[in-house]
Amino acid sequence: MCGIVGYIGYEQAGPFLLDGLQTLEYRGYDSAGICLNDGSELIVKKAKGKVGDLRKLTDDGKNTKGTVGIGHTRWATHGEPSDVNAHPHLSESGRFAVVHNGIIENYQQLKDNLTAKGIVFRSMTDTEVIAQLIEYYYKGDLIDTIIKVLEKLEGSYALGVISQDDPDEIIAVRKESPLIIGIGENENYIASDVTAILSKTRKIYRLENNEIAIIRRDGIRIIDTDKDELHKEIETVEWDVSAAEKGGYEHFMFKEIMEQPEAVAKTISPRLKNGRVVLDEIHLNAEQLRKFTKINILACGSAYHVGVVAKYIFEKMLRIPVEVDLASEFRYRDPIINDRVLTVVISQSGETADTKEAMKEAQRRGSHVISIVNVVGSAIAVESDDVIYTWAGPEIAVATTKAYSTQLAVIYLMALYFADMLGTIVPDEYKALIGELESLPERITKILENKERIQYLASKFFNSRDVFFIGRNIDYALSLEGSLKLKEISYIHSEAYAAGELKHGTISLIEKGTPVIALATHEELIGKIVSNIEEVKTRGADVIVIACDTHPELANIGQAIFIPKSCDMLLPSLAVIPLQLFAYYVSSLKGCDIDKPRNLAKSVTVE
Ligand code: GLU
Repeated sequence: MCGIVGYIGYEQAGPFLLDGLQTLEYRGYDSAGICLNDGSELIVKKAKGKVGDLRKLTDDGKNTKGTVGIGHTRWATHGEPSDVNAHPHLSESGRFAVVHNGIIENYQQLKDNLTAKGIVFRSMTDTEVIAQLIEYYYKGDLIDTIIKVLEKLEGSYALGVISQDDPDEIIAVRKESPLIIGIGENENYIASDVTAILSKTRKIYRLENNEIAIIRRDGIRIIDTDKDELHKEIETVEWDVSAAEKGGYEHFMFKEIMEQPEAVAKTISPRLKNGRVVLDEIHLNAEQLRKFTKINILACGSAYHVGVVAKYIFEKMLRIPVEVDLASEFRYRDPIINDRVLTVVISQSGETADTKEAMKEAQRRGSHVISIVNVVGSAIAVESDDVIYTWAGPEIAVATTKAYSTQLAVIYLMALYFADMLGTIVPDEYKALIGELESLPERITKILENKERIQYLASKFFNSRDVFFIGRNIDYALSLEGSLKLKEISYIHSEAYAAGELKHGTISLIEKGTPVIALATHEELIGKIVSNIEEVKTRGADVIVIACDTHPELANIGQAIFIPKSCDMLLPSLAVIPLQLFAYYVSSLKGCDIDKPRNLAKSVTVE
């Protein structure tokens, strides 16, 4: 999920690798490393921390000799951030080195098989299994070996591989994780992201899934897994570094919105095995689960809004009462928590001070805590009883999008997993929901393809002073997030209201032209929300309605944005996309600093 860079040429590779890693720093990472072939062996230098630390360790790359090498900045997914878990990883004898972005979903099984054969692993990563497999299968031809190893791997990867015995090539391959080959004069490069090589060349090959590149000083061959030669077009990159960092988009927030199908797929797919949700991370059996009389969710900000969605889903599917608490409030109200209460804490960074302290309070009172966290090895991840990681990758924009979506994905997984254990779901429904979950990334993509409609609506409303979001049930939970997204990045005052509650006070604020964004996706309550929409329209509101495409008639009641029909549980993941895009476009039209809104920080480590 983080950065790869590689060099082969006639210059010393070290300084270039370090410069390349430095340009990848903006992505966020926890450790960095390089490996060079010095002509007789592979030399690895790696450390937890910043590229600056690696610079010191390597004297700016000068104390490690070699004209071929690979480098990596790691965003841990398997194994905490540490020196030994940093990449590159070597095979047991040190003859092969690998850098990897992504996740090997079946690494444990592969590792167990190799361990049974006496192979000793050094790290806790999923990646090391690749280096060990290469050595295990190697019979003299590295390409044949890599093709064989790829057949064994499940998951996502961009890989750079070098071998001690062949100082004249780098092998690169990818599946579901980006990788490009840079074309130079008597030297060539690999990178996960063009920014790393823009100082050297603008000519690239973009590798597609299962294409294998054999990169030498004087040429590049690209083959498929049948070893047939591929003739790819050379692409010329026009972007400057700042645009390249953002994948060609203007802002990180937009890039991260567009990355959501991939992030959600990465979070869900490793946990679906043979049509079932498998959450090995949770150490609770059915008997223990049955003892819980309440689920208590603790979080702040957008993560709290995920919690509100979770309340509707868990209560419906598990028939256990759920309480959602703002972490900052929970601590100081002498909460009624004991070992019969299951606590779920949600935090992107895993360092949110309010959430961490609330979690400790729950633990002190005997509650079992499951955390949902994006950053591996963070305080909440380490201190909770069980942790389920969202594999969103680093999120840079302050306003969360892909972390929120992956947190929701974990909630669905938990709901299905627990419902199955408790027997509160019938097999047919379980099967149908798994099917829908599998197609969730595709449906998100479909909504993203329709973004111009939302851009148009944003252009009509960006001058508004106040905006209201209304919804019922899960749509209400989602309206909380839509409202927060808008206010945090566009500075427009907005409020989210349970649609039925509006008439109990706030409707007095509706006047001619007040924008009201009504979420009307929840099938059972369409009639009710339509009445609430009529109430605000009568008072002059200008209504945008977000609805499923199975209700085209709702276009008569407001300016409609349609999303693909899906089961109720998954609708928040779809309906949130137009809300994020709306906030983004409004903020952009107002000229706000979208990625770094005023007064806000990404990780709130103070109370
Ligand atoms: N899954 C690998 C690890 O945890 C790679 C992480 C990355 O993409 O940076 O080491």
